[in-house]
Amino acid sequence: MAAVVYMDNNATTKVADEVIEEMMPYLRDKYGNPSSMHTFGGQVAKKIAWAREQVAALLGCEPDEIVFTSCGTESDNTAIKGTLEMYPQRRKVVTTRVEHPAVLTTCRELERHGFSVSEIGVDRQGNLDLDELGFRLDDNTAIVSVMYANNETGVIFPVEQVAQLAAARGIVFHTDAVQAVGKIPINLKNSAIHLLSLSGHKIHAPKGIGVLYVRRGTRLGTFMHGGHQESGRRGGTENVPGIIALGKACQLALEHLEEENTRVKALRDKLEKGILSSCPDCFVNGDRRNRLPNTTNISFEFIEGESILMMLDQFGICASSGSACTSGSLEPSHVLRAMGVPFTAAHGSIRFSLSRYNTEAEVDFVIEKMPGIVRRLRELSPFVKT
Ligand SMILES: *Cc1c(COP(=O)(O)O)cnc(C)c1O
Repeated sequence: MAAVVYMDNNATTKVADEVIEEMMPYLRDKYGNPSSMHTFGGQVAKKIAWAREQVAALLGCEPDEIVFTSCGTESDNTAIKGTLEMYPQRRKVVTTRVEHPAVLTTCRELERHGFSVSEIGVDRQGNLDLDELGFRLDDNTAIVSVMYANNETGVIFPVEQVAQLAAARGIVFHTDAVQAVGKIPINLKNSAIHLLSLSGHKIHAPKGIGVLYVRRGTRLGTFMHGGHQESGRRGGTENVPGIIALGKACQLALEHLEEENTRVKALRDKLEKGILSSCPDCFVNGDRRNRLPNTTNISFEFIEGESILMMLDQFGICASSGSACTSGSLEPSHVLRAMGVPFTAAHGSIRFSLSRYNTEAEVDFVIEKMPGIVRRLRELSPFVKT
């Protein structure tokens, strides 16, 4: 077994060996500028065109609908701000309470600048309140931004249905599909989705490359002004190795999509059942029938997620907790709070997110370690009644 048991793939992923092989020549030897007139640069432009086709194939769209960006966050920012720029008479954004900070922080910043933002809630299972959403759409709404699948719970949202609700009112629809791409099938042919964000480092490409899908005919302001790269939609010399890496990663994602929904899903289910059956007082957060195949979010009553993470870390197991530990606070995650997960359980939530690189031996190892960790922490917990 590897030194590290990596089960934090919703945070970032290992770069696939095939991806590194594909991009290396463009770091070392083929360093031309794709905009140059010479053949040396031209071969790079050709390879970028190839990468664009791979992304389009994974999404079921046309290559000219793909805009390369620097990350998922830039794609989300561009979609929302670029749409507002084109509809100056509409001053409202509709989104959800459980979006990634790339969308939520952007919306709250817009609020500070006088825009109105409606955040739609979710139920106890993490499913979107479609009635509330329909009720919030009005003639002042420029854009609806609803994530394809949630990064913390894996819950999948009915984005196609929401896109149609928006379209019926002439409203642009954007989806942050960073967690869905490569895990569940996405087909933008005949879709009502206008804008879709994805990120390379969540699908086994390196960090620092993203995509914004822009459906033909969608009006969108430019975020990064500069040269004529990306058909004038995103200036700046291309991140050539990143783009080629992402192209390869998309090709691999398409090849492994079925494995994700069979072998990886079976590993996730085994892990989840193993933990639930051996650790008392724990439960799964998020609708178990409507989730990404790789994600499980489990709450352990009366203990802190951070403590579990630290003990897992001693065994080389990488997972993630639902608390906003990055800010140094022990606030439970905004996603679990929106779902109404009780306080005692929201603090003790752990997310395991798998990938095609995980093995059954790794799952068995985690199942073996968890009961001891939970027992020891409960013995120390001031909340547990003895
Ligand atoms: C990781 C993530 C992002 C941000 O992508 P970056 O490329 O890291 O900027 C946005 N949305 C979701 C749902 C994510 O999981």
